[in-house]
Amino acid sequence: MKLGALEAGGTKMVCAIGDETGKIFEQVSIPTETPEITIPKLIDFFKEREVDALGIGCFGPVSLNKKASNYGSITSTPKLAWKDYNIVGAFADALHCPIGFDTDVNGSVLGEVTFGQAKGKNCVIYLTIGTGVGGGIYIDGKLLHGMVHPEAGHVLIRKRSDDQYEGKCPYHKTCLEGLAAGPAIEERWGKKAVELADKTEVWDLEADYIAQALMGYIVTLSPEMIILGGGVMHQEQLFPLIRTKVSELLGGYVEAKELEDMEHYIVPASLHDDQGIMGCLELARRALSEEE
Ligand code: ADP
Ligand code: ZN
Repeated sequence: MKLGALEAGGTKMVCAIGDETGKIFEQVSIPTETPEITIPKLIDFFKEREVDALGIGCFGPVSLNKKASNYGSITSTPKLAWKDYNIVGAFADALHCPIGFDTDVNGSVLGEVTFGQAKGKNCVIYLTIGTGVGGGIYIDGKLLHGMVHPEAGHVLIRKRSDDQYEGKCPYHKTCLEGLAAGPAIEERWGKKAVELADKTEVWDLEADYIAQALMGYIVTLSPEMIILGGGVMHQEQLFPLIRTKVSELLGGYVEAKELEDMEHYIVPASLHDDQGIMGCLELARRALSEEE
């Protein structure tokens, strides 16, 4: 089985060829410009390699509802060249093969559940904390879409009284993304996040906000594992801080063996930054098996 995988991001497009076991044979990265410039390059890549199916994990928001007329489109993105662009339609017309489509973060959680540390689990959340904050949710074999798809980065956060920063989200100011994504850290402290590595107050506040969001996900979805990825989580000192704060916030209310072993409950991504692209291989495999 020759599967194509496309991790469509706001800054780069990662294309890979692989198989149903998650093995990647070839991988290239192409900068994200406008659809007119970028999409033909991507189509050429997959066409030349004659893939049996393609899986796309895409930056969003996207339309995932197969019954909607705009299925397969990127909807209200601030990247205006891509607004209302039907990415699935473009590949379907050119490749004539089954196409799996989901959000980038749903792709990542699928990669971790299919090929990584979350194998065998039924309810898993993958949260990326980078330029923005996004969450993918896997439940009982499926990726959660619901009405649109989860926007877990935009849960509201109780701001700490010693934090004077107003919040960066244009819609909600003090949601998790507004308070804790990379650009918020950098605007609040006036330095690149990576240059703040030794400032304990930065990561204590950051862990506070992330922990509040995780507490909310735990009591609503009851996940068996929470995986944290994205550029900000390269600050590994965040993990122990977040685990302690989540335990404090839960206050012993939820009783579960997973919560007694926080080191294996709130964890970094396990697939060497390939969780997204590997998840796209699985999206392709699923699309192929649905058509058979
Ligand atoms: P994207 O979200 O655009 O896919 P990343 O996940 O790499 O990309 O996130 C980029 C953000 O992560 C930047 O805003 C930057 O502040 C932050 N970041 C990147 N590397 C680090 C690091 N080593 N430590 C802390 N923050 C980082
Ligand atoms: Zn928001």
